Amino acid sequence: MTKLADRINRLEESATIAMARKSRELKAAGRDIISLSLGEPDFDTPDFIKNEAKAAIDNNFTKYMAVNGYEDLRTSICSKFKRDNNLDYTEDQIVVSTGAKQSIANVVMSIINPGDEVIVPAPYWVTYVEIIKMAGGQPVIVRAGIDNDFKMSAAQLSGAITPKTRMMIFSSPCNPTGTVYTEDELGDLADVIAENPDMVVLSDEIYEHINFTGQHHSIAQFPGVKEQVVTINGVSKAFAMTGWRLGYIGAPLWIAQACTKMQGQFTSGTCGITQRAAKAAVEADPSVTYEMRDAFLKRRDLVLARLENIEGVKTNLPPGAFYVFPDISYFFGKSGNGMSVNNASDMSLYLLEAANVALVTGAAFGDPDCIRISYAASEEVLTEALNRIEKALNELA
Ligand code: PLP
Repeated sequence: MTKLADRINRLEESATIAMARKSRELKAAGRDIISLSLGEPDFDTPDFIKNEAKAAIDNNFTKYMAVNGYEDLRTSICSKFKRDNNLDYTEDQIVVSTGAKQSIANVVMSIINPGDEVIVPAPYWVTYVEIIKMAGGQPVIVRAGIDNDFKMSAAQLSGAITPKTRMMIFSSPCNPTGTVYTEDELGDLADVIAENPDMVVLSDEIYEHINFTGQHHSIAQFPGVKEQVVTINGVSKAFAMTGWRLGYIGAPLWIAQACTKMQGQFTSGTCGITQRAAKAAVEADPSVTYEMRDAFLKRRDLVLARLENIEGVKTNLPPGAFYVFPDISYFFGKSGNGMSVNNASDMSLYLLEAANVALVTGAAFGDPDCIRISYAASEEVLTEALNRIEKALNELA
């Protein structure tokens, strides 16, 4: 008999990866599926980055390296934190990992004991909750709805803190909502965090450069909290490098050392060739990312304009990332194509069946009234997808 460990049985499959797999299977079976389900830029990695990887192979960067990353890469990451975020970190406070996903896992595994509480504002990125569960921690979900632009207030944060609270995890710009916290809002959250010195904050800033407000703020910038904050970033989204697998943290030294110890046993660090390429990315002037950002802004406006014209779809204005997260609860209780739609998961299945468009249910992100549409696709593809969605929604009665 096969018997798996409790920790794997507790784990959910990633809903975004599951939807992408389902749409691939349907495509392979001949269905004309448009997938707007994955969080991946549809651009190519810039040539100046690829060239560094080619040179790295020729120059034999092919051996084990320091577990926390090549020292000169960590120096470049320190300069990036100073240049873009006005944050001072030293090389030993940086840990380079196999994607921001592993960066997050390292920190949670290093800090959370069974029974510890971790505050997660919802909607949240699916992986946070699963990693917390894997560590035996207790996710404490704080719901922030569309009417508050999906932002948790300082009062909500304060109300969720108990003697068991050890951590809070959030992203700004946010996956799945595209929400960006303003400087004042982050300052208010920072005040609450500073009053709770045993609490660590994971600030996931992977979408930093896909921000249409023109300004990115890091919560570590606020006085009195830097020693409690781990700033997470990486190259996947800003430089279209999802497959290269490199993320990093800037952290208090004791956390950075714990993460290095953890990854020393798990992976020994991320690929050396990727590290040489990522060095070029983090050293590059952020203006190299503007072309992609501007394309995303045009697409966001296209998608929003179309959704706003569909009766019953409620939207807000997402100032970052490449997602919209409309509330579709108006349609609950209606039916079409032989299917009834009673929640967001039903809606994502209905749109897959009736419209051949793959999206992800908001339930996977902690909001069962919404669906996530990734607009990391060409304007042509988005227009066709929206034509299909509009028709299918209008057919619900
Ligand atoms: N954090 C958020 C909010 C994300 O959306 C993603 C990817 O989808 C990640 C982290 C992971 O990024 P990486 O590809 O660097 O592991």
